[in-house]
Amino acid sequence: MNIYFIASEASPLAKTGGLADVIGALPQALHRHKHRLTVIMPYYRRFVDATDVNLTPIKKTISIWADGMNRDCPVHQIHLAGVTFLLVQQDDLYNRKGLYGTTDGEYEDNFLRFVLFNRVALELAAQSSKNVDILHCHDWQTGLVPLLLRTQYGHFPRLYKTKTVFTIHNLAYQGIFPAEWMSRMGIPTHHFHQDGLEFYGQINCMKAGIMMADAITTVSETYAKEILTPEYGCHLDGFLVRHQSKLSGIVNGIDVNIWDPANDPFIPHTFSTKNIAGKKKCKKALQASCGLPLSESTPLLTLISRLAEQKGIDLLLPNIKAWVNQGMQLIILGSGDLEIEKSLKNLATKYPHNLFFMSDFNEPLAHKIYAGGDMFLMPSLFEPCGLGQLIAMRYGNVPVVRSTGGLCDTVIDYNVSKKQATGVHFSDATSEALNHAVNETIALFQKPAVWSRLRNNALRRDSSWDRSALLYAQLYTDLIKK
Ligand code: ADP
Repeated sequence: MNIYFIASEASPLAKTGGLADVIGALPQALHRHKHRLTVIMPYYRRFVDATDVNLTPIKKTISIWADGMNRDCPVHQIHLAGVTFLLVQQDDLYNRKGLYGTTDGEYEDNFLRFVLFNRVALELAAQSSKNVDILHCHDWQTGLVPLLLRTQYGHFPRLYKTKTVFTIHNLAYQGIFPAEWMSRMGIPTHHFHQDGLEFYGQINCMKAGIMMADAITTVSETYAKEILTPEYGCHLDGFLVRHQSKLSGIVNGIDVNIWDPANDPFIPHTFSTKNIAGKKKCKKALQASCGLPLSESTPLLTLISRLAEQKGIDLLLPNIKAWVNQGMQLIILGSGDLEIEKSLKNLATKYPHNLFFMSDFNEPLAHKIYAGGDMFLMPSLFEPCGLGQLIAMRYGNVPVVRSTGGLCDTVIDYNVSKKQATGVHFSDATSEALNHAVNETIALFQKPAVWSRLRNNALRRDSSWDRSALLYAQLYTDLIKK
């Protein structure tokens, strides 16, 4: 199949969260099954140029009318592990401090930025040397692609039979903009109504994708069910129920070559189930670099996350004093909500021997924390899939998770199966429930035989993309046959 991915971020070029990991790894996994894969994304110059990847300018410029002017967009190309990446250049729009905004808020012209990108992506797909079988779009930034394909690009011979898949990586971010942008960006207005992309008088890009795609997927089976309920549906549950027949859940994997404790250039000592000594050394090195007392027997809790309400950091904060008094160590790496950052900074200053907090987005440090930690906390209020727990398990860092979304589907709870468990679950979104689960996990940590089994189960879990890539390929095949 000739498959195009259209997405707003991809590892290793530009990343704010799990979406980038997926776009960096799933196309490669599909390519290994002999499909032809192209990924189109914006050229965020300052992020991409900071990587060691070499871009080749190709002699291609796409001209698009947008918001009252014509824009010439040069295109750059990179080949990574058999996948072609096409990067759309428009420096005033994409070469900015952040991908979507800064700590002051989202960029106000995001509709222009991403719809322009969608149009260039469709033009590029239309110029493919073979018919395009699938356009796979991801999250609100590409929500308009299926609509534009049907209304304005479907007559291109290469796109005549193309089917669209729209994957919801996080329903909480919907891309909502004032209605005036419809005409400014030349979007046909006949879909601007309640059953279309209109949402309380505004444009909702996520709704456009849900409405117009041939298939909708989300990143775990449990989240696919949760988003049909008012609790998790972010005001789109009713709309999703109406489109339920084309909705399914396919759980994410991770790139097991990049996240590999036996061969990871970022960690001081490599390790595996057969040779766990390296993990103990990683813990020691991590404690030393974070200024914490070196101690093998002290439980080392870790957390790496965007600091957003979704991630349940509010459940963690009230417990920190008690955990410190119990002698635990905690290392947190994250950035985002300034209030949360302030609270964590204050606590880290107060308890320097137990709590280390780094406000940053730092991949090398993330690898070291995954490798050195004993337990990995994910108290998320909701979690479409979650990659943190998958990476943590791969490094024998036992996850303590709230039973929601992909966390349910990927971590086997000790209380459900002591033999097969890869982590510990808790249900209530309260700090008491998290505290209970942490203490339960620490009791397991103190029994070496029990802990070693739990940690080895986590280490052995197959989180590769192989199985899920086959499920996507099957979905594409079914769509093409329709
Ligand atoms: P989300 O996409 O909601 O942010 P996921 O768990 O799906 O959450 O994916 C998060 C990804 O981003 C993981 O690869 C994680 O290691 C990474 N990550 C999150 N915060 C940081 C950070 N501060 N520094 C480095 N990597 C981070």
